[in-house]
Amino acid sequence: MSILVLNAGSSSVKFGVFDFDTLEPTARGMLDWAGAARRATITLKPPHGEPVRQEIDAPDYRTGVIHALKMLKQCPPRLGDPSFVDRRFRVVGHRLIHGGEEIRRPVVIDAPMKKTIRRFIHLAPLHIPAGLEAIEAAETALPGVLQVGLFDTAFFADIPPAAYLYPVPYSWYEEWGIRRFGFHGTSHAYCTERAAEMLGAAPGSSRPLRLVICHLGQGSSATAVRDGVAITNTMGFTPLEGFMMGTRSGTVDPGILLYVLREKGLSVAELDDILHHKSGLLGISGLSSDFRQVEAAALAGHARARLAIDIYAYRVRTMIGALAVTLGGLDALVFTGGIGENSVWLRSEVCKGLECLGVHLDAQRNASVAPDGDVATGDSPARVLLIHTREDYMIAREARRLALESQHGGG
Ligand code: ADP
Repeated sequence: MSILVLNAGSSSVKFGVFDFDTLEPTARGMLDWAGAARRATITLKPPHGEPVRQEIDAPDYRTGVIHALKMLKQCPPRLGDPSFVDRRFRVVGHRLIHGGEEIRRPVVIDAPMKKTIRRFIHLAPLHIPAGLEAIEAAETALPGVLQVGLFDTAFFADIPPAAYLYPVPYSWYEEWGIRRFGFHGTSHAYCTERAAEMLGAAPGSSRPLRLVICHLGQGSSATAVRDGVAITNTMGFTPLEGFMMGTRSGTVDPGILLYVLREKGLSVAELDDILHHKSGLLGISGLSSDFRQVEAAALAGHARARLAIDIYAYRVRTMIGALAVTLGGLDALVFTGGIGENSVWLRSEVCKGLECLGVHLDAQRNASVAPDGDVATGDSPARVLLIHTREDYMIAREARRLALESQHGGG
């Protein structure tokens, strides 16, 4: 039997197939609407061999997901070999971006739960509808198969009020629900467990473990974790707060926003578009939102690309400082995500100045060790870990757990 994992984003759906018993991945793929409207590209990657690509007519996620499942079933003989990809699905696990204040753990998705999820649409208007579409597509394509949801916000269910409340009128929280939620929780949860494993700190061990986890990808956030529990996350009410990102501004003085609205005649829609799509690495460099490209340009002498990297590193470094202080010190700094796992330069820039927190990066190890590994010097009081994040594995694992529980619960 297999587990299907669906991770629906704003313009793509990533999917993965895992063996139910071993949790080994057997196939993965992606549905991408980046090209022509109503056309999607499906890429299916078996664990061995070449990816299979197909262009399809898919006006929506539902059609796309149904097509991807058909493709998985029809791909003979390599993918059609049942010993290779078992297409008998026992459970489907969905990544969902927002569970509001209510959803604190993985859930079985049934009709009332879908209704609950719909209540969070205003909190993530691009992602929640995509997740719901993926759920409905899976219900159609795999009728009767258990569906499970993992919510990115759930890992932050225990952050204290001092960290989740904003210093605005308290009624904003009471009446409008404005508070910090935190995002990327599935990745931060995986890295928390993996870091403890790498450091030999078993859950419940006497030594408290203080981690700052930096997930640096197209979207970026950091989490302070004490003994496996998230204390705070740099993203807030929305995923716009915190680090500078590919195209997102991250934290800026709210007075700037008032100023450009009032004095410069920007509309709310224009400001929204600028802060989400025209800021960050793209906004400063004027070149690209892709870190690799900005880094290459900076190394080739492009002044604004260099400035973008400097601002990026400065902001990551200062937020690590704030989070480490929240924890009262640091046992390990974790880098994950496309940038965190791969950019030797960024890691070295970020760690400059973190010696005061006991972070001593080993330049040679930083340049040569691939995730998962430790790149701190032998005598560094705080370890520096590179971890390849595995959100899909976390979803598969929790989906399996709930499938087994529901089997036992049902007798
Ligand atoms: P997402 O947040 O969409 O999952 P990723 O975690 O894959 O994104 O991160 C994408 C970012 O990682 C891009 O900005 C990309 O340029 C950057 N990246 C990927 N590989 C490298 C590399 N070798 N060096 C520097 N940056 C990299």
